[in-house]
Amino acid sequence: MGASAAGRLAERMHCSSPSSPGQASPVRRCLLLVATAVSLLLVTVPSAADGAEQDAVWSWPLDTRAVARDLDLPASRYGAGHRGVDLSGAPGETVRAVAPGTVTFAGTVAGVGVVTVSHGAERSTYQPVEDRVVAVGDAVDRGQGLGRLGPAGSHCATVCLHLGRLLGEDYLDPLERLGRGQRVRLVDPDGPPPRPATAGDGSFLRPVGGPVTSPFGMRVHPVTGVRKLHDGVDLGAPCGTPVQAAAAGTVVLRERHPAYGWRVVLDHGDGTRTGYTHLQAFAVVVGQRVEAGTRIGSVGTTGLSTGCHLHFMVERDGAPVDPMLFV
Ligand SMILES: [Zn+2]
Ligand SMILES: [Zn+2]
Repeated sequence: MGASAAGRLAERMHCSSPSSPGQASPVRRCLLLVATAVSLLLVTVPSAADGAEQDAVWSWPLDTRAVARDLDLPASRYGAGHRGVDLSGAPGETVRAVAPGTVTFAGTVAGVGVVTVSHGAERSTYQPVEDRVVAVGDAVDRGQGLGRLGPAGSHCATVCLHLGRLLGEDYLDPLERLGRGQRVRLVDPDGPPPRPATAGDGSFLRPVGGPVTSPFGMRVHPVTGVRKLHDGVDLGAPCGTPVQAAAAGTVVLRERHPAYGWRVVLDHGDGTRTGYTHLQAFAVVVGQRVEAGTRIGSVGTTGLSTGCHLHFMVERDGAPVDPMLFV
């Protein structure tokens, strides 16, 4: 594909769309989007499809394990957004294949080094990758070096690897593959100690029975490895367990979120909202009035989740607070 074709593609991808504060210029950001799209278009070789392979957990492509920026899929195929995740890294560190596969693209697109590896139905894409040591058609193992993480073409404030996950022309969340299945919950050693099972003020019903498997507070995210506020409480319960409204209110949100998964948010008036996330089914619609105890959905493990549980959130005037203060 020549420069003019890439240019036309850049036009189609709305290169004038504004970037968020703190990001690289719209032009550079767009070039990366184009690079991703070009690498997609150049893929022609489906390797021996192996259904089991699709379910494989990906290994991290860098030694550093930190997510600088999450997936942010646009509403339309060509809209502005972020079609992958940015993983923080050190300049020059080795970029490794996340799973066994076949290299279907290795080259430079609009000045950015890009490698694509096909794993059967899905593909992983890596950029910017310099000093590439693989070529199209090469079989690679999990963890095998593809090249070095380049500073040029990185669209983070510091150096990062943009990792994409593609199924056909659809962009999926790479974090669902990275670390899912390691059923590990790390509680941050600097965070608050696990709360004793004392009752809160009783103003809310507990939306599901079951133990608190991860309390509200600072922790290391079990999937992304990033230290941040755990903005709710995890209640362990089997998938399919009915989830009940904690209090009377109105359904103000019902969505499929990349991180929270399927979630419902209720507004209870006076600035209080409750959120029910990682659901596998909805039982209410937006605008619906519910009573305390009304079934709003079922426990699931959608979004960034390591297993069946309810991540229950309470917000007061837009700020997350510890739900256990109320149940
Ligand atoms: Zn990115
Ligand atoms: Zn949680």
